Parts: sequence; C-alpha cells; structure tokens
Amino acid sequence: MKKYRLFMVAFFLAFVSFFNFAFAQDKKLSLLSKVIYLDPGHGGADSGAFYKNYREADINLAISIKVMNALKKEGAVVYLTRYGDYDLSVANAWNRKRSDLSRRANVINKSECDLYLSIHLNADSSGMLKGAEAYYDTINIENEKIAKIFQEEFKRELNSTRDYKENSTKYLQRRVNRPGVLLEVGFLSNASERALLVDDVYQNKIASVIRDGVIKYFNG
Ligand SMILES: [Zn+2]
Repeated sequence: MKKYRLFMVAFFLAFVSFFNFAFAQDKKLSLLSKVIYLDPGHGGADSGAFYKNYREADINLAISIKVMNALKKEGAVVYLTRYGDYDLSVANAWNRKRSDLSRRANVINKSECDLYLSIHLNADSSGMLKGAEAYYDTINIENEKIAKIFQEEFKRELNSTRDYKENSTKYLQRRVNRPGVLLEVGFLSNASERALLVDDVYQNKIASVIRDGVIKYFNG
C-alpha cells in the first residue's frame, strides 16, 4: 500500500512538471535572449538626492531590481551595474564620482548589450516639479527613439506631464555607445511624488511600465 501511494505521488509530480513544461513552452517570451543592462544611479558614499531620510541611491536600486525581475520573466538576460549599496570607483580615485561613472560606462560598453537604462530620481530646489522623464544623448542614433517610447509610457501610465529631452552633458550617457537612455522616474524633492516613489506598490508599477517600454522598443 505504501509503495502504491509513493508511486501515485511520483506519477502526480511527473504529470505536474510535464504540464508546467508544456505551459512554459506555450508562453511567448517577448524579450527572449535580449541582453539588457540596468544602471541604478549612485550608491555607497554617493547617496544622490536625499530627502527626509530617503536616499535616491536606495530607491534607484529597489526599482532596478524590480525592473530586472520583470524583464527576466520575459526571457531577457539582465545585468545591473551594481547589486548593492556601493559604487564602482577605484580605490583612492582622485575623482570618485568620475571614476564610478567611467567604470559603469566601460562595463556597459563591453557587454555589447541590446539596451541599457540608467535609473535615477530627479530633484529640484522648488519642490514643485514632478513626473517621470527620459533623457537621451545623440551618441547612438537609436537613443531619441528609445526616449520617446519611454516618455509615452510615462505619460500614459504614470500621468507624467513632462517631455523627453536631449541632454548631451551627462558623463555616463556621453560615453556609452550602446543604445539606451537615462530615466528619471520621478522627483524625490516633491512631497506627493516622494510618497509614491518610496512605496513598494508604486515601485512595482514603475517596473512594469519600464518593462512595457522595453517590449515596445524591441517588438514595436
Ligand atoms: Zn541621480
């Protein structure tokens, strides 16, 4: 009797795993084999914008990890420039910030990824501005198109009233020749937007909006 029960359990497990396999084969993975580099801004000694104990660096990383998971579910191969609270500067760099950004640019360029996204939060001294926006550098001809796609998603899904912009003064964006943009996903300096940006549910929303932008870029 015991043996029979064991056999039934084994049979059931085999059936379930076959069903899962068949189902997984059936699901269309819209980003299969695409290599995507995510760059969570700041980290370590460099907190980025800082308001009421909230560090931009921490929120950038939390959102980037959620984006990574969302993209992996679509079959993408995803790398992050940092996976924890640190920066990439070399020891005793004469300019720590520059060393950090230049190493990030190097790893992204060497990866030959299909797309990279730097993820940051915005800040302004008035505290009035809010909304997500995309910045592009003209170093790669694809970048303007990518910025436009993300801005449309931000307008429709996050109610952003801002526009995408060319910005060719950003140290990292100027040096990365792979296609990609800088996403400033909200203003940490704005009280109402800050309450959203630190919220897990809203961070997941941002992640799914970014995933949809990536899918649109690759699949039209
Ligand atoms: Zn930043």
